Amino acid sequence: MLRVVTEFARNVTHLLYPNTCLICDTPEGGTAFRHGVCSDCHRAVTTDTLLACPWCADTIGPHSDTSKGCMACRDAALGFDSAFRLGPYDGKLRDAVLRTKFLPGEGLADLLGRMFAETKADAIRAAEIDLVASVPLHWWRKWVRGYNQAEAIARELAAGLSVPFVPRLLRRVKYTPQQVQPTREARRENVKGAFRVSRGAKLAGKSILLVDDVMTTGSTLGEVARVLKAAGAARVVAAVLARR
Ligand SMILES: [Zn+2]
Ligand SMILES: [Zn+2]
Repeated sequence: MLRVVTEFARNVTHLLYPNTCLICDTPEGGTAFRHGVCSDCHRAVTTDTLLACPWCADTIGPHSDTSKGCMACRDAALGFDSAFRLGPYDGKLRDAVLRTKFLPGEGLADLLGRMFAETKADAIRAAEIDLVASVPLHWWRKWVRGYNQAEAIARELAAGLSVPFVPRLLRRVKYTPQQVQPTREARRENVKGAFRVSRGAKLAGKSILLVDDVMTTGSTLGEVARVLKAAGAARVVAAVLARR
């Protein structure tokens, strides 16, 4: 509740003073601005100082052997084939992700999608992606929020990669409670049967970049990846702004 009130106050601040950093509210002129965010936030969000597992994007130690996955994913059936992240779910990136859920409009999510492309485009291009899709929200949640932040991020990321974005490739057919279950198994059960590929989608042999804002255990992305593969996709690569 307190967060809602705080975010409401921030939203009002943005309406009154639009020239402030979308992530930290620093007024323009206080520090150099780059497309809507101050230079400090830009640097923090686009600099991942930690190593990430190439399979599940979780943070790993400097000398980890990830040839068959990290300690966390080695024996797990992820559902997707590999994963990219902009950074860990921490600090300014965490602030930014939380704000995309409260700020009106898609401005910040768009910006984060562009920063993701700017930072990771070369690495993602090497994965030879044919098309980009995003994890869908249930229509009710999308209506309440006004937009799907994952879709906004995916659209901008796809534009940066020069790969087509397919906006309505997937539907969420089950309204699932927020993923707060403690274990991977319980989370996987929670999203089972929640997604469908749209009729007429031609996915045979395609490599798909599947975008979401946050990955926690990867069970949502894994379930969507399994649905895409059942519809013919050859490979599903996950891309998330932040990895918990
Ligand atoms: Zn800032
Ligand atoms: Zn891993």
